[in-house]
Amino acid sequence: MGTDRDRPIGIGKRERAFLEVPRQPMALRAPDRRLTDFREIYDSSDPTELQRQGARCMDCGIPFCQSSTGCPIDNLIPEWNELVYQGEWKAAWERLVATNNFPEFTGRICPAPCESACVLGIIEPAVSIKSIECAIADRAFAEGWVQPRVPGTRTGRRVAVVGSGPAGLAAADQLNQAGHQVTVFERDDRAGGLLTYGVPNMKLDKSVVERRVRLLQAEGVEIRTGIDVGGRRPGSLSPAQLRQDYDAMLLACGALEARDLDLPGRSLKGVCQAMDYLSASTRTLLDGMPSGESVPNARGRNVVVIGGGDTGTDCIATALRQGCQSLVNITRREREPDQRDAVHPWPGLPGTFLVDYGHAEAAAAFGGDPRAYKLLPVAFIDDGRGRVCALRVRRLEWNRDDDGRTRAREVPGSDTDLPAELVLLSVGFTGHDSPGLLAGLGLKDEGGRLGANPDTLDGGIEGVFVAGDMRRGASLIVWAIAEGRRAARRIDQYLMGDSDLPDVDGL
Ligand SMILES: Cc1cc2nc3c(=O)[nH]c(=O)nc-3n(C[C@H](O)[C@H](O)[C@H](O)COP(=O)(O)OP(=O)(O)OC[C@H]3O[C@@H](n4cnc5c(N)ncnc54)[C@H](O)[C@@H]3O)c2cc1C
Ligand code: SF4
Repeated sequence: MGTDRDRPIGIGKRERAFLEVPRQPMALRAPDRRLTDFREIYDSSDPTELQRQGARCMDCGIPFCQSSTGCPIDNLIPEWNELVYQGEWKAAWERLVATNNFPEFTGRICPAPCESACVLGIIEPAVSIKSIECAIADRAFAEGWVQPRVPGTRTGRRVAVVGSGPAGLAAADQLNQAGHQVTVFERDDRAGGLLTYGVPNMKLDKSVVERRVRLLQAEGVEIRTGIDVGGRRPGSLSPAQLRQDYDAMLLACGALEARDLDLPGRSLKGVCQAMDYLSASTRTLLDGMPSGESVPNARGRNVVVIGGGDTGTDCIATALRQGCQSLVNITRREREPDQRDAVHPWPGLPGTFLVDYGHAEAAAAFGGDPRAYKLLPVAFIDDGRGRVCALRVRRLEWNRDDDGRTRAREVPGSDTDLPAELVLLSVGFTGHDSPGLLAGLGLKDEGGRLGANPDTLDGGIEGVFVAGDMRRGASLIVWAIAEGRRAARRIDQYLMGDSDLPDVDGL
């Protein structure tokens, strides 16, 4: 028999909870309901149920959720799971922010590599780590535990951060807490990087991003928007001048150069980069419809999204909310397997078939999953008036060659036209889109990335560092935070000779 302390939430002994309590995934609003608005897809979660979910954590000897294949920022997952189980939410928050600058972002939109690495996941569905993280963060803000922490002393050193995505903001937060005077330069009209103008509002409400930006400002971080460092627009700043004016500089400009599809008909109206489409949708939501400007919109249109991934799913979800007529998401790949295969062993990412929020919503709207596999786009078809009316696709066959590698073969005579008045290109990113910034500093990139060493994050000239997608290529928010944290430590060491800021083991 357990003691009363063992079962504050009505389950048997805590050590057996993983046998007694089934996993509850993140609470979401019903797909057919949430489709009608751009509000967050999440439903309120029951704190008692979350305590039960926390109890499922087995306190295993080697928590792989924290290993290099798990959480990239070394979140102290078993510790805060236990604290939540005990109802010690404030202590759980304190442990959570020991390693994570922005758990209110990761709790919402991290794909949770920690859960793929969860030891319980070998035999049972993994612990709901991400839901618990999100609930701790939301509770901390609701209870007023999150207050500006203004550093007591200042070092007199000034750091310029270029780019206000999660990498830049995490570094700014750490450096500010170390007492340095930090200025973040952002070319957009709002801070947040892809948190603001990439990830749609229904996954991450923009008020959540704004709240964090305001908090950083209240703590002493200066954020200057509308400044393109190395750009040609009025109000741009010279990178070389910035380097001279500041004691150190961090480049965290992301990997925002979208890959294109150089196919016949590419210049037709209605063929649009996913990022242009998504950012226009968020701008319209925040600022209203711009007058006299044509903004890509799916209303009443047949839509084809080319390419999968997070961006493709976000396009699906946005097009549904705008009231598209039909929706197909094509990919060259084969459908993922339902179970881990030999190429995806535990504790790495499972590589299995996933029904993400947009797929579930498309099924609710049109009665089926929108994804169509093994299709190669070959041409955009003109309606005779300069607008796209269809996407021509060709079937692919995937075979394994003698070396075990899979290769695609185009099937002759298999071309079909998919009706489409809006075609969204979501085929990845090639690297940063700030050549003027690099040229101004005399730096050279390697295929769109700054090839900085992941240990030093050294940008290639003295006092200049690089972090986030700009260094590693298009990635995830949690990696951007990890890089921002390490960059802050390296910059602090550069400025002060030593640093008390924590490093990140997972990088
Ligand atoms: C549509 C979409 C959805 C995504 N969804 C998810 C998700 O659900 N979960 C997840 O983990 N990841 C997701 N990602 C990936 C994630 O957003 C990125 O990996 C992350 O934002 C990278 O952070 P960063 O700070 O390196 O760069 P960014 O967030 O790209 O920020 C870079 C910033 O630098 C600014 N900048 C660039 N050049 C200059 C310059 N010369 N002067 C001034 N400012 C400049 C840019 O305007 C931008 O604001 C998504 C990405 C996209 C495109
Ligand atoms: S940040 Fe991501 S990987 Fe880390 S604990 Fe949270 S959900 Fe898991």
